Amino acid sequence: MTSKAYPFGTPSFKAPSFEAPSFEAPSFEAHPFLEVRAVKKSFRDAKDGDIHLVLSSIHFTVNEGEFVTVIGPSGSGKSTLLNIIAGLLPPDEGSVWMQGERQTARAGKVAYMMQDDLLFPWQSVKRHVAMPLRIQGVGKRAAEEQAERILKTFDLIHLGDRYPKTLSGGQKQRVALARAYIQGTALLLLDEPFGRLDALTREDLQAWLETIWLKEKRTVLMVTHDIEEALFLGDRVLVLSARPARIVLDLPVPFARPRKKDVRLTEAFVAFRKTLMQALAEDTQRL
Ligand code: ADP
Ligand code: MG
Repeated sequence: MTSKAYPFGTPSFKAPSFEAPSFEAPSFEAHPFLEVRAVKKSFRDAKDGDIHLVLSSIHFTVNEGEFVTVIGPSGSGKSTLLNIIAGLLPPDEGSVWMQGERQTARAGKVAYMMQDDLLFPWQSVKRHVAMPLRIQGVGKRAAEEQAERILKTFDLIHLGDRYPKTLSGGQKQRVALARAYIQGTALLLLDEPFGRLDALTREDLQAWLETIWLKEKRTVLMVTHDIEEALFLGDRVLVLSARPARIVLDLPVPFARPRKKDVRLTEAFVAFRKTLMQALAEDTQRL
Protein backbone atom coordinates (compact mmCIF):
# COMPACT_ATOMS: atom_id res chain seq x y z
CA MET A 1 0.00 0.00 0.00
CA THR A 2 1.56 3.29 -1.01
CA SER A 3 1.32 6.47 1.01
CA LYS A 4 -0.12 8.12 -2.10
CA ALA A 5 -3.21 5.97 -1.79
CA TYR A 6 -4.01 7.25 1.72
CA PRO A 7 -2.38 10.63 2.15
CA PHE A 8 -4.39 11.47 5.29
CA GLY A 9 -3.77 8.37 7.36
CA THR A 10 -5.38 5.01 7.79
CA PRO A 11 -8.60 4.63 5.79
CA SER A 12 -11.72 3.87 7.81
CA PHE A 13 -13.03 1.45 5.20
CA LYS A 14 -11.65 -2.00 4.54
CA ALA A 15 -8.88 -2.02 1.99
CA PRO A 16 -10.00 -3.70 -1.24
CA SER A 17 -8.48 -7.12 -1.72
CA PHE A 18 -6.17 -6.09 -4.56
CA GLU A 19 -4.53 -3.74 -2.05
CA ALA A 20 -4.41 -6.21 0.81
CA PRO A 21 -2.25 -4.75 3.58
CA SER A 22 1.17 -6.23 3.91
CA PHE A 23 2.03 -7.90 7.21
CA GLU A 24 5.50 -6.47 7.12
CA ALA A 25 5.96 -3.81 9.77
CA PRO A 26 6.37 -0.35 8.26
CA SER A 27 9.94 0.87 8.40
CA PHE A 28 9.35 3.58 11.03
CA GLU A 29 8.30 0.83 13.44
CA ALA A 30 11.22 -1.39 12.56
CA HIS A 31 13.30 0.41 15.17
CA PRO A 32 11.50 0.92 18.45
CA PHE A 33 12.76 3.93 20.37
CA LEU A 34 14.41 1.73 22.96
CA GLU A 35 14.98 -1.98 22.67
CA VAL A 36 16.50 -4.13 25.38
CA ARG A 37 17.50 -7.41 23.75
CA ALA A 38 18.05 -10.56 25.80
CA VAL A 39 20.11 -8.79 28.47
CA LYS A 40 21.80 -10.99 31.07
CA LYS A 41 23.85 -9.88 34.04
CA SER A 42 25.56 -11.69 36.90
CA PHE A 43 27.51 -10.39 39.87
CA ARG A 44 30.10 -12.08 42.00
CA ASP A 45 29.09 -12.06 45.64
CA ALA A 46 31.59 -10.07 47.67
CA LYS A 47 31.31 -12.47 50.64
CA ASP A 48 31.28 -16.02 49.28
CA GLY A 49 32.71 -15.32 45.83
CA ASP A 50 29.76 -17.13 44.18
CA ILE A 51 28.36 -15.78 40.95
CA HIS A 52 24.70 -14.78 41.13
CA LEU A 53 22.56 -14.34 38.06
CA VAL A 54 20.65 -11.05 38.55
CA LEU A 55 19.00 -10.44 35.17
CA SER A 56 18.14 -13.70 33.45
CA SER A 57 17.10 -12.62 29.96
CA ILE A 58 15.38 -9.27 29.75
CA HIS A 59 13.71 -8.31 26.52
CA PHE A 60 11.34 -5.38 25.95
CA THR A 61 10.80 -2.32 23.80
CA VAL A 62 9.65 1.22 24.55
CA ASN A 63 8.06 3.47 21.94
CA GLU A 64 8.86 7.12 21.49
CA GLY A 65 6.98 9.34 23.94
CA GLU A 66 5.83 6.43 26.08
CA PHE A 67 5.92 6.47 29.88
CA VAL A 68 6.81 2.93 30.93
CA THR A 69 7.03 1.93 34.57
CA VAL A 70 8.91 -1.08 35.94
CA ILE A 71 8.02 -2.78 39.21
CA GLY A 72 9.69 -5.70 40.90
CA PRO A 73 10.75 -6.90 44.33
CA SER A 74 13.61 -5.23 46.12
CA GLY A 75 16.92 -6.67 44.98
CA SER A 76 15.47 -8.03 41.74
CA GLY A 77 17.85 -6.02 39.56
CA LYS A 78 15.85 -2.90 38.66
CA SER A 79 18.71 -0.47 39.26
CA THR A 80 21.09 -2.85 37.49
CA LEU A 81 18.78 -2.80 34.47
CA LEU A 82 18.74 1.03 34.38
CA ASN A 83 22.54 1.14 34.78
CA ILE A 84 22.86 -1.12 31.74
CA ILE A 85 20.41 0.96 29.68
CA ALA A 86 22.27 4.14 30.67
CA GLY A 87 25.51 2.55 29.44
CA LEU A 88 27.15 2.68 32.88
CA LEU A 89 27.38 -1.10 33.17
CA PRO A 90 27.99 -3.59 30.35
CA PRO A 91 25.59 -6.55 30.09
CA ASP A 92 27.17 -10.04 30.11
CA GLU A 93 25.02 -10.96 27.13
CA GLY A 94 22.50 -9.13 25.00
CA SER A 95 22.39 -5.50 23.96
CA VAL A 96 20.55 -2.20 24.27
CA TRP A 97 19.42 -0.29 21.19
CA MET A 98 18.20 3.28 20.92
CA GLN A 99 16.60 4.55 17.74
CA GLY A 100 18.17 1.67 15.82
CA GLU A 101 21.69 2.24 17.16
CA ARG A 102 23.47 0.03 19.59
CA GLN A 103 23.85 1.85 22.90
CA THR A 104 27.36 2.15 24.21
CA ALA A 105 28.84 3.99 27.15
CA ARG A 106 28.69 7.21 25.13
CA ALA A 107 27.04 9.87 27.27
CA GLY A 108 24.48 12.33 26.04
CA LYS A 109 21.57 10.19 24.89
CA VAL A 110 20.10 9.38 28.26
CA ALA A 111 19.26 11.46 31.33
CA TYR A 112 19.38 9.35 34.45
CA MET A 113 18.05 10.21 37.88
CA MET A 114 19.61 7.54 40.04
CA GLN A 115 18.20 6.08 43.22
CA ASP A 116 19.24 8.33 46.12
CA ASP A 117 20.43 11.03 43.74
CA LEU A 118 22.01 13.67 45.94
CA LEU A 119 22.02 17.45 45.87
CA PHE A 120 25.22 19.24 46.81
CA PRO A 121 24.81 21.30 50.00
CA TRP A 122 26.87 24.19 48.60
CA GLN A 123 24.87 24.80 45.42
CA SER A 124 21.66 26.74 45.02
CA VAL A 125 18.66 25.17 43.31
CA LYS A 126 19.25 27.23 40.17
CA ARG A 127 22.87 26.13 39.96
CA HIS A 128 21.90 22.49 40.46
CA VAL A 129 19.50 22.66 37.54
CA ALA A 130 21.98 24.55 35.34
CA MET A 131 24.82 22.13 36.15
CA PRO A 132 24.22 19.45 33.49
CA LEU A 133 24.29 22.16 30.81
CA ARG A 134 27.47 23.65 32.23
CA ILE A 135 29.03 20.16 32.09
CA GLN A 136 27.96 19.95 28.44
CA GLY A 137 29.87 23.19 27.86
CA VAL A 138 26.97 25.66 27.71
CA GLY A 139 27.97 29.16 28.90
CA LYS A 140 26.95 30.29 32.38
CA ARG A 141 24.41 32.88 31.29
CA ALA A 142 22.68 30.62 28.73
CA ALA A 143 22.64 27.70 31.17
CA GLU A 144 21.08 29.81 33.90
CA GLU A 145 18.45 31.17 31.50
CA GLN A 146 17.48 27.65 30.54
CA ALA A 147 17.48 26.62 34.18
CA GLU A 148 15.05 29.44 34.92
CA ARG A 149 12.79 28.30 32.13
CA ILE A 150 12.75 24.72 33.44
CA LEU A 151 12.25 25.93 37.01
CA LYS A 152 9.19 27.88 35.84
CA THR A 153 7.78 24.85 34.03
CA PHE A 154 8.42 22.75 37.12
CA ASP A 155 6.80 25.37 39.35
CA LEU A 156 10.03 25.73 41.31
CA ILE A 157 11.12 29.22 40.35
CA HIS A 158 10.45 30.56 43.86
CA LEU A 159 13.09 28.13 45.18
CA GLY A 160 15.84 29.15 42.73
CA ASP A 161 18.12 30.80 45.32
CA ARG A 162 17.51 28.27 48.08
CA TYR A 163 20.04 25.67 49.26
CA PRO A 164 19.22 21.95 49.73
CA LYS A 165 19.20 22.01 53.54
CA THR A 166 16.26 24.42 53.47
CA LEU A 167 14.15 22.21 51.18
CA SER A 168 11.58 19.55 52.10
CA GLY A 169 12.05 15.97 50.87
CA GLY A 170 9.48 16.50 48.13
CA GLN A 171 11.12 19.74 47.00
CA LYS A 172 14.52 18.04 46.78
CA GLN A 173 13.12 15.32 44.54
CA ARG A 174 11.49 17.94 42.30
CA VAL A 175 14.82 19.73 41.94
CA ALA A 176 16.60 16.44 41.13
CA LEU A 177 13.96 15.73 38.47
CA ALA A 178 14.36 19.20 36.98
CA ARG A 179 18.12 18.59 36.85
CA ALA A 180 17.54 15.34 34.93
CA TYR A 181 14.93 16.90 32.63
CA ILE A 182 17.03 19.90 31.58
CA GLN A 183 19.46 17.64 29.74
CA GLY A 184 16.90 17.49 26.96
CA THR A 185 17.83 13.95 26.04
CA ALA A 186 15.07 11.92 24.51
CA LEU A 187 15.20 9.13 27.10
CA LEU A 188 14.73 9.80 30.78
CA LEU A 189 15.52 7.03 33.28
CA LEU A 190 14.10 7.47 36.77
CA ASP A 191 15.00 5.11 39.60
CA GLU A 192 12.44 5.26 42.41
CA PRO A 193 12.37 9.07 42.40
CA PHE A 194 9.69 9.21 45.11
CA GLY A 195 10.85 6.17 47.07
CA ARG A 196 11.63 7.93 50.31
CA LEU A 197 8.63 10.23 50.49
CA ASP A 198 5.48 9.82 52.57
CA ALA A 199 2.33 8.61 50.82
CA LEU A 200 0.61 12.01 50.49
CA THR A 201 3.70 13.76 49.13
CA ARG A 202 4.17 10.90 46.69
CA GLU A 203 0.66 11.33 45.34
CA ASP A 204 1.23 15.05 44.86
CA LEU A 205 4.52 14.43 43.07
CA GLN A 206 3.05 11.74 40.83
CA ALA A 207 0.34 14.14 39.64
CA TRP A 208 2.93 16.89 39.26
CA LEU A 209 5.26 14.65 37.22
CA GLU A 210 2.41 13.67 34.91
CA THR A 211 1.56 17.35 34.34
CA ILE A 212 5.19 18.12 33.47
CA TRP A 213 5.46 15.11 31.19
CA LEU A 214 2.28 16.09 29.34
CA LYS A 215 3.76 19.58 28.81
CA GLU A 216 7.29 18.47 27.91
CA LYS A 217 6.97 15.02 26.41
CA ARG A 218 9.87 12.60 26.83
CA THR A 219 10.24 8.89 26.63
CA VAL A 220 10.39 7.79 30.26
CA LEU A 221 11.40 4.51 31.86
CA MET A 222 10.72 4.71 35.58
CA VAL A 223 11.46 2.12 38.24
CA THR A 224 9.29 1.97 41.33
CA HIS A 225 8.38 -0.64 43.92
CA ASP A 226 4.92 0.89 44.37
CA ILE A 227 2.12 -0.75 42.38
CA GLU A 228 -0.18 2.29 42.56
CA GLU A 229 2.56 4.59 41.37
CA ALA A 230 3.38 2.26 38.47
CA LEU A 231 -0.27 2.24 37.41
CA PHE A 232 -0.94 5.94 37.96
CA LEU A 233 2.00 7.05 35.83
CA GLY A 234 2.55 4.29 33.30
CA ASP A 235 1.27 3.83 29.78
CA ARG A 236 2.57 0.33 30.37
CA VAL A 237 3.78 -1.50 33.45
CA LEU A 238 6.55 -4.09 33.21
CA VAL A 239 6.65 -6.54 36.10
CA LEU A 240 10.03 -8.03 36.96
CA SER A 241 10.26 -11.31 38.83
CA ALA A 242 12.47 -11.83 41.85
CA ARG A 243 16.12 -12.62 41.12
CA PRO A 244 17.09 -13.85 38.57
CA ALA A 245 14.78 -11.28 37.04
CA ARG A 246 12.74 -11.76 33.92
CA ILE A 247 9.66 -9.89 32.75
CA VAL A 248 6.58 -11.75 33.92
CA LEU A 249 4.01 -9.23 32.67
CA ASP A 250 3.85 -6.30 30.24
CA LEU A 251 0.57 -4.59 31.04
CA PRO A 252 -0.84 -1.69 28.96
CA VAL A 253 -2.68 0.85 31.14
CA PRO A 254 -5.58 2.50 29.33
CA PHE A 255 -6.64 5.32 31.71
CA ALA A 256 -7.11 8.68 30.00
CA ARG A 257 -4.73 11.52 30.83
CA PRO A 258 -4.45 13.65 32.80
CA ARG A 259 -5.23 11.05 35.43
CA LYS A 260 -7.06 12.50 38.37
CA LYS A 261 -5.93 11.46 41.82
CA ASP A 262 -9.15 9.57 42.49
CA VAL A 263 -8.66 7.33 39.43
CA ARG A 264 -7.09 5.12 42.11
CA LEU A 265 -10.56 4.52 43.56
CA THR A 266 -12.17 3.32 40.33
CA GLU A 267 -13.06 -0.33 39.82
CA ALA A 268 -10.86 -0.54 36.75
CA PHE A 269 -7.84 0.74 38.66
CA VAL A 270 -8.45 -1.71 41.49
CA ALA A 271 -8.73 -4.55 38.95
CA PHE A 272 -5.40 -3.59 37.35
CA ARG A 273 -3.86 -3.40 40.78
CA LYS A 274 -5.03 -6.91 41.51
CA THR A 275 -3.54 -8.18 38.24
CA LEU A 276 -0.18 -6.66 39.15
CA MET A 277 -0.30 -7.99 42.72
CA GLN A 278 -1.04 -11.45 41.38
CA ALA A 279 1.83 -11.25 38.89
CA LEU A 280 4.20 -10.37 41.73
CA ALA A 281 2.73 -12.97 44.11
CA GLU A 282 2.76 -15.85 41.61
CA ASP A 283 6.38 -15.23 41.10
CA THR A 284 7.11 -15.34 44.83
CA GLN A 285 5.38 -18.74 45.05
CA ARG A 286 7.69 -19.97 42.33
CA LEU A 287 10.68 -19.50 44.66
P1 ADP B 1 16.91 -3.40 42.87
O1 ADP B 1 17.22 -2.07 42.29
O2 ADP B 1 15.82 -4.15 42.14
O3 ADP B 1 16.61 -3.36 44.34
P2 ADP B 1 19.71 -3.94 42.27
O4 ADP B 1 19.76 -3.85 40.80
O5 ADP B 1 20.22 -2.79 43.05
O6 ADP B 1 18.21 -4.33 42.71
O7 ADP B 1 20.51 -5.21 42.74
C1 ADP B 1 20.19 -6.53 42.31
C2 ADP B 1 21.13 -7.52 42.95
O8 ADP B 1 22.43 -7.37 42.40
C3 ADP B 1 21.27 -7.36 44.45
O9 ADP B 1 21.35 -8.63 45.01
C4 ADP B 1 22.56 -6.61 44.60
O10 ADP B 1 23.19 -6.95 45.80
C5 ADP B 1 23.37 -7.12 43.42
N1 ADP B 1 24.32 -6.11 42.92
C6 ADP B 1 23.98 -4.92 42.36
N2 ADP B 1 25.09 -4.24 41.97
C7 ADP B 1 26.13 -5.03 42.30
C8 ADP B 1 27.56 -4.91 42.15
N3 ADP B 1 28.09 -3.83 41.57
N4 ADP B 1 28.33 -5.93 42.59
C9 ADP B 1 27.79 -7.03 43.16
N5 ADP B 1 26.48 -7.22 43.32
C10 ADP B 1 25.64 -6.23 42.90
MG1 MG C 1 17.23 -0.20 43.09
